[in-house]
Amino acid sequence: MSTRDTQVKRVYAWQNVIRHEFSEISEAVIPHLIKAACEYSEIQVPRLRYNVNMSSMAHYRPGEHKITLPGSAGSWSHRTDTVLHEVAHAVHRCRPDREEHETHGPEFMYIYLDLLDQFTDHEFFALVKDARIHCIEVADKLTTN
Ligand SMILES: [Zn+2]
Repeated sequence: MSTRDTQVKRVYAWQNVIRHEFSEISEAVIPHLIKAACEYSEIQVPRLRYNVNMSSMAHYRPGEHKITLPGSAGSWSHRTDTVLHEVAHAVHRCRPDREEHETHGPEFMYIYLDLLDQFTDHEFFALVKDARIHCIEVADKLTTN
């Protein structure tokens, strides 16, 4: 995996701008969203854990194929956009060409925005346009292999 992650700050900043457009989801619904997104992406469903430390960030650990979310109902992480962000990391890390990509690079963004299109009322091309206005690169397509 590339050690560079040149657009991570812009991706987080953009998510803060658009976060109010996404609904909060309950802890009961989160596993169903993750399962549906993984079935759509044809990857094994990662394990899901909650971290009682609320200052921790949502993250995905590829070695354990595990998504961790801060554990409290109504917290910032319990929205469709942040959950699908972590699922997008899982999908991206399951791709054979991942070693060539940055963690929050154009390929990750393509996967993430496609998931937002599939599982929220946002449209892919509108999201791509908005991301690019915020100077975030999005791949035009994923290479197939
Ligand atoms: Zn991320």
